[in-house]
Amino acid sequence: MRSRLFKPTLIWLQGVTCNGNTHSFLNLPYLPQLLARFEILYHPLLPCSQNLEEIARCRRGCDVLVFEGAFDPMMERAGVTLERLVAYYAEEAGHVIAAGSCASFGGIFKAAAPERNSGLAYAGEHPDGPLLGKAGKVINLSGCPVHPEWLGFALMNIAEGRPISVDALGRPTALYRHMAHDGCLRNEYFEWKVDAEQFGRKEGCLFYEHGCRGPLTHASCNRTLWNGVSSKMRVGTPCFGCTEPDFPRRNLFETKTNMSIPEEVPVGVSKRAYLTMTGIAKSFKIKRLEERLTDDD
Ligand code: SF4
Repeated sequence: MRSRLFKPTLIWLQGVTCNGNTHSFLNLPYLPQLLARFEILYHPLLPCSQNLEEIARCRRGCDVLVFEGAFDPMMERAGVTLERLVAYYAEEAGHVIAAGSCASFGGIFKAAAPERNSGLAYAGEHPDGPLLGKAGKVINLSGCPVHPEWLGFALMNIAEGRPISVDALGRPTALYRHMAHDGCLRNEYFEWKVDAEQFGRKEGCLFYEHGCRGPLTHASCNRTLWNGVSSKMRVGTPCFGCTEPDFPRRNLFETKTNMSIPEEVPVGVSKRAYLTMTGIAKSFKIKRLEERLTDDD
């Protein structure tokens, strides 16, 4: 463990982005305490010791590089290409964090212009991007946007000098080993195959008709709630699978089916096992699960 007197230097650069990850980060409940553990050389919104022009001169390295947005090699910041900036600071940094799905896998901007945009070390699930040769240094915190607590987890571990183990796509296993389905309050409806009648209601599961990717998505949104209180499924909208490299997909609110059977079944479950289980579950009618939980519309 590191001495608390040591403050790693941090630079936060942006590629092609909507700023969503920065805004998510600003919602971290313990942001002031976390920032106090770093010397922030540059961040586009937070107080920092250098401006973008100074950063673009590439005269001083950093311990941690956080990158937000998709990587477009020709895009410029203060007259310098992202290609040059990322190459310089990633070389110097001990840790590189790809904050969000665009920085991790290319995300929405790669889908819009795949010939230009990628993540730092992946384009979708394929190794690619400017840090392809340094993929072991890149921690992918996918999500659209990244959950503030996940960023807090990674940065606090770096500040403390603790190692972060990652999965095959560079995502911390402590955060992405579970499925988004894990901890969802609708699990009983999933088990007994009771559909949600409409979006926004508390009752029913959104998997069968409404496109929920919870059982197919590695994320801990229902274990570490957003703002400590909620998740998409808790407010009655489906998980869009935004932490996976194939995000975004089309028809986010629909479950693709073939003869009423979902084309994709939960990760690790064979289609045969799925059909057997759901066939049995559907043969029971559980009145309690068909009733409204509240009187609200
Ligand atoms: S709504 Fe989604 S995450 Fe929740 S139980 Fe159904 S499939 Fe799982």
